Amino acid sequence: MKIEKIDVFVSCPGRNFVTVKVTTSDGVYGLGDATVNGREQAVVAMLQEHVIPCLIGRDAHNIEDIWQYLYRGVYWRRGPINMAAIAAIDMALWDIKGKVAGLPVYQLLGGKSRQGVTLYAHANGESIEQTLANAEQHVSNGFKAVRLQSAVPGLEVTYGVLGDKKDYFELQGSRPLPPEETWSTPKYFDLVVELFEQARSRLGNQVQLLHDVHSRLTPIESARLGKLLEPYNLLFLEDASIAENQTAYKTIRQHTTTPLAIGETYNTLWDCKDLIQNQWIDYIRVAATHAGGITALKRIADFASVFNVQLAPHGAPDLSPVCFAAHMHLNTWVPNFGIQEFVGFGNESLREIFQHEFTVQNGMAYVSEAPGLGVEFDEQAALKYPYKRSYLPVSRLEDGSMWHW
Ligand SMILES: [Mg+2]
Repeated sequence: MKIEKIDVFVSCPGRNFVTVKVTTSDGVYGLGDATVNGREQAVVAMLQEHVIPCLIGRDAHNIEDIWQYLYRGVYWRRGPINMAAIAAIDMALWDIKGKVAGLPVYQLLGGKSRQGVTLYAHANGESIEQTLANAEQHVSNGFKAVRLQSAVPGLEVTYGVLGDKKDYFELQGSRPLPPEETWSTPKYFDLVVELFEQARSRLGNQVQLLHDVHSRLTPIESARLGKLLEPYNLLFLEDASIAENQTAYKTIRQHTTTPLAIGETYNTLWDCKDLIQNQWIDYIRVAATHAGGITALKRIADFASVFNVQLAPHGAPDLSPVCFAAHMHLNTWVPNFGIQEFVGFGNESLREIFQHEFTVQNGMAYVSEAPGLGVEFDEQAALKYPYKRSYLPVSRLEDGSMWHW
C-alpha cells in the first residue's frame, strides 16, 4: 500500500487550520492536523517543499520507519514547524492503518483503559462574579473540572478572557497583526488568590479547579503563587513559568504542593525529559500536533508513566478536530491519563468542514468506534473559508518591556 498523494489544505472557519490528507494506492486516505498558530504557512511550505516529495511511493504501513526517516533522517531536528509536519503525516498514517484494519486507532494502541475521557472546561469572565457564574454553568452541564481565568483589574485586557467576543474563534479572527497587551504581576496576584478563595466557597470542594498562568511569572513568583493557592486544592497550575531552562521547575517544586502541569509548546520528549524524570511536574500537556503525532505522544506518555506523570493533552481552539480525535484515542488507551482540556467544537463553520464522531456528555468525551481516527474533512466546505493571517497577542510590562508570552 504505497503513499500516492499528499494534499495540504489551509482553512479559516474563524481560526486557521492546516489539514493534511494522505491518499494511498489502494484509495484509502488518512487525515492529520499540522496547525501552528500564527505560523501556519511555514508548515505548509515545510510539507510541500521538504516532506511530501520524500514520501511519495513509500509503504504507508511503515508508520514508525516514516517517523524515524523524517526525524532522524534530516540534519535539522526538532522545532515546532518540523515536528508539526511530522505529526500530521503520522496522524494520517495511523488513520489509514485503522481504516485498513477496520479498527478505531485506540484498539491498535492496546485497547480501552477507561470508558470515557474526563474533560475540563474553560470558565472566564470580566469579573470574578462572571467567571464563577460561567463555572457554575459548566458544573450544571455535568463538568467535574473547570479552569478559571478572570480579567485582572487595572489591566485593559487579560489573555484568556473573551470580553465582548462570543468565542475564541471571534477573538482570534480579529487580529491580523499581533495586538500588544500589558501585564502586571502585582495586579495579577491581587486577583488570582481572591478568585480561588471565592471559587471554593461558592463551588464547594467536589469540583476540580485549574488555572493557567500563561508563563507570566518568574520561577520564584510561581512558587509563591503555588503556596498561596494550596488551601484551594487545585487539580493543577498550568504553565506556572517558562521552562526553556527545565531546572526552573525545581525551584517551584521545592516550595509548593500545588500540582504542576506544562507542555503545550513542547515539540519532543527532549523538551520535558528533565521535568519528567526529576518529577518536577505532575501532568505533561503535549499536543499530538505539536509534539510529533501519535507515535511520539505514545512514547512520551510511556516515559512519563515511569515517573508518575500523567498525560493531560493540550486542547486549545487552535487544534483541529483531527488532533482532538488523536488525543481521544490516546486518552482512551493510555494507562497514565490525567485529564483533557476541552473548549468545544460549537463553531458552525468548523463543523461544516470537520465532521467528528466522538461524543461529549456530562463533562466526559467518548471515543469514536469508526475505523481510524473517526473524523471526516469536507474539502469543498474548506474552500469556502480561505486562510486569513491572524496572531496571538504579545505581552509587555507596564514600563514597555517585552514580557513572556
Ligand atoms: Mg494553556
